[in-house]
Amino acid sequence: MVILKGANVSPGIGIGRIVVIEEPDLSYEPKPVEDVEAEKARLTDAINDYVEFTKAQAEQMKESVGEKEAEILMGHVLMISDPYMQGEMTKLVEARTCAEDALTQICEQFAMMFEASGDELTMARAADVRDIRSGVLAELLNKRTVSISSLPQRSVIVTRELTPSMTAEINRENVVAIITETGGVTSHSAILARALEIPAVMAVADACTSLPPETLVIVNGSAGTVTTDPDEATMEAAKNERELFRQEQADLKKFIGNKTVTADDKELLLVANIGNAEQAQDALERDAEGVGLFRSEFLFIENDEMPTEDQQFEAYKKAAVTMKGKPVIIRTLDIGGDKEIPYLGMEKEENPFLGFRAIRYCLQREDVYRTQLRALLRAAAYGDIHIMVPLVTCVDEIREVKALVKRYAAEFEREGVKCNPNVEVGIMIETPAAAVMADALAEEADFFSIGTNDLTGYTMACDRGNDSVRYLYSTYNPAVLRSIRNVIQAGNDKGIMVGMCGEAAADPLLIPLWIAFGLGEYSVSATSILRTRKEIYGWTVDEAKTLADKVMKLTTETEIHDALVEAIEVREKAAE
Ligand code: PEP
Ligand code: MG
Repeated sequence: MVILKGANVSPGIGIGRIVVIEEPDLSYEPKPVEDVEAEKARLTDAINDYVEFTKAQAEQMKESVGEKEAEILMGHVLMISDPYMQGEMTKLVEARTCAEDALTQICEQFAMMFEASGDELTMARAADVRDIRSGVLAELLNKRTVSISSLPQRSVIVTRELTPSMTAEINRENVVAIITETGGVTSHSAILARALEIPAVMAVADACTSLPPETLVIVNGSAGTVTTDPDEATMEAAKNERELFRQEQADLKKFIGNKTVTADDKELLLVANIGNAEQAQDALERDAEGVGLFRSEFLFIENDEMPTEDQQFEAYKKAAVTMKGKPVIIRTLDIGGDKEIPYLGMEKEENPFLGFRAIRYCLQREDVYRTQLRALLRAAAYGDIHIMVPLVTCVDEIREVKALVKRYAAEFEREGVKCNPNVEVGIMIETPAAAVMADALAEEADFFSIGTNDLTGYTMACDRGNDSVRYLYSTYNPAVLRSIRNVIQAGNDKGIMVGMCGEAAADPLLIPLWIAFGLGEYSVSATSILRTRKEIYGWTVDEAKTLADKVMKLTTETEIHDALVEAIEVREKAAE
């Protein structure tokens, strides 16, 4: 039994046997062209065959997956039908380049141009154009990809890269899981795997060579693991987990389209954490009522140079437009600590988590911050965008940010540029200093969002990456819970919105405490939306308060954790 690790891009458990999908050998020997007209016709025929085949695949996909996903393939058809692109290929053939080479050179030129754009969406199109090249090349070489649609039952597909066209052929009846060597959470193939609801683990190094065909595997798309040749006990546990996951998923669907309310009808806001503008769509489809945390630093991390004002504007606007008027909270650049951006020239520090990071960095790099705040101000004219400042420790910081926002809005007014000068500016509460000063900060900030991931570490004075002190890193610690209770109280007293965007917002054990404390907004990963709604449905405010009264008298992490587990067990038993 071996356990391989990868990226958990599509949740669930799949148990089956490996089928390695080899890419067809599309190598060719470039040869000089003698009959130019015949070669042009060969290229045109191959493109036409590819277009026909892809259209048929898109039709099939519309049925099996959905309209939006089929559009990705129709995008391929549109791209290759572009007269300019075809014209460039023809020119090369006229200069006696063979069809294979003409196709490859032009597709590669387009791919490189897309990659150089710096715009995330455009860059993603490079993979699409390379997919098109392989498709047309397969037609030219008569090597159309083997049909994935006729795989044996319980197949686990292993492939280097899962292309949208391969995904189109996947039949959910036969394929129980997907493993790839490349790809991440935001790749097209990951989005498609999630849409198909097939468990998938991506970025598994050397998967194609280390997983021989027919191997029995357990693919855990929630944990991002692949277990080969499992023993009996592991198999039994995986089957149970699979059953539980299926039941839970089926159960959760009931909550789509519902309001997020407690059992006694107190309405709360349930929103999503996203890392880029594309994920807003995923959040919306999972019924998020907005975005509570857009981690804008990923826009900076994914690029080789700083995204320009226009590039940032497009990304923020896209998220807001996608969310169709629902609130979208965009956090300004939160770098430093464990998030490094080489081109910003940050120096190595002795204690990076206590150092020059997040708002501290931004306020000293006005060039960087100005670009981002201007992009946010402009994008805020196109949707319900709110600006959120990370790692605030004192009142001066929020005052400074507000002054900058005001100054840049005035610049736009003078320049006659469309923006929203009244955009709300809120803060994350993730340091003990901010928690202690919450009443004063509530006078300055338009809203709070509690970052429990950092607040837990800073409150307990422990580094979550350090194994020796990990026992301290727990939000169940009474110090952390008291701090959170005070913050919520301070925000509510001032009448500003108080939300939470750390992982603890989706913790079923803690949700009753948040309800009891009066937390108004819960920002969780898109895949946790429905589960969190279900948990919230389970409690009346009074029941939650009774539990909180009991729990908040306890003085150790273990006592609190155990009391919460016990409370949940008692409720579950009562519900049976
Ligand atoms: C947090 O600290 O809780 C938070 C949401 O921010 P991040 O995890 O991005 O540091
Ligand atoms: Mg944080």
